[in-house]
Amino acid sequence: MTEIFKGSFTQQEPIPAEGIAAANAVMQSGRLHRYNTSGDEIAQTALLEEEFAATVGAKYCLAVASGGYAMTTALRACGVAHGDKVLTNAFTLAPVPGAIAAVGAVPVFIGVTEDLVIDLDDLAAKLGQAKVLLLSHMRGHICDMERLMALCDAAGVDVIEDCAHTMGAAWNGVPSGRWGRFGCYSTQTYKHINSGEGGFLIGDGPEDMARAIMLSGSYMLFEKHRAAPPVATFANIKYETPNISGRMDNLRAAILRPQLRNLAAQAARWNARYRVLEDGLAETPGLRLIPRPEKEQFVASSFQFLLLDWAPAAVEAVLARCAARGVELKWFGGAEPKGFTSRYDSWRYAPSAPMPASDRVLAGIVDMRLPLTFSEEDCALIARIIRAEVSAVHQAQVAAE
Ligand SMILES: *Cc1c(COP(=O)(O)O)cnc(C)c1O
Repeated sequence: MTEIFKGSFTQQEPIPAEGIAAANAVMQSGRLHRYNTSGDEIAQTALLEEEFAATVGAKYCLAVASGGYAMTTALRACGVAHGDKVLTNAFTLAPVPGAIAAVGAVPVFIGVTEDLVIDLDDLAAKLGQAKVLLLSHMRGHICDMERLMALCDAAGVDVIEDCAHTMGAAWNGVPSGRWGRFGCYSTQTYKHINSGEGGFLIGDGPEDMARAIMLSGSYMLFEKHRAAPPVATFANIKYETPNISGRMDNLRAAILRPQLRNLAAQAARWNARYRVLEDGLAETPGLRLIPRPEKEQFVASSFQFLLLDWAPAAVEAVLARCAARGVELKWFGGAEPKGFTSRYDSWRYAPSAPMPASDRVLAGIVDMRLPLTFSEEDCALIARIIRAEVSAVHQAQVAAE
């Protein structure tokens, strides 16, 4: 009997009842705007910022309209200007180079290793070209952060972390987002907490965060922030910083607060599913699993493997055969950008030189969402399907050689 998987790869869990009740209360109040408070009321958005700062151990936190907005704000607050170069990952998603382009800057792409992290040797070679690295912890894979920070510190390069896939994750016990000058997060539906759209910016620099708060559109109401630097920090910054509105509202904050409280438990559920997939795919001929270093405390909201050095037609055959059995896989090696998947050479607004070593890895990356609506039994079934189809195509390849 051929097993078929019936689940939906894009179906997230519902918003917790507590979040729905809190959202209803905000709607009943009519005070959705974060600065619209009554008496000594504290806005949901300001409370969420305090709670998020405490969760990651940051001094300051700003809730914003999207992860992309968090990144452009961080770049602006770091002083990145029109025409500047910004180092970033060749293996990431479109909002990352997009954030760099949004401030008129130019990405300098750094390669990806077979472990799906930034290539630190390539980074070392290119560090002299820019003052800022926008580091994407793409698909939740975290590089050797001690080595990365030592390289960047020595070169005087500021690090902004894109933690869209690492909310709740850490390297060697230090939360992702706490290594660099700024950490940026997304609360878009497919990330670790879900408000449809939304994001956070965290950091410890008082002037950095004062600038970010002004940029986000605080008018002269920055005193209403709680996870924020003292009012005196804004003395000059309030005159010098343009308002580029991208605030979060109380409705989103209300549904995020209970989800944030549940983040660690959700991370454990994701990782249990990940391990089932990993076990089910272990030692599949032709398939390379991504090693997870001991120092990396990841949150597996997605799953990747490599079909390294496979012919494109063979990878396409695997994808088609899995799709026919209900398993939706994405491929970073396709000639055309598709769905959420694109790569450095599809962002034609940004110049790039060919990166053969990274192209080899990208051509082999197969990517899968792992929504929590899947059970561990679902994951075991998905692994059986992938294993069978990869093996079938691989055997045919080997026989043809
Ligand atoms: C989702 C995502 C972001 C932020 O996206 P928004 O949709 O702007 O919230 C940033 N980086 C990566 C790698 C992402 O996947």
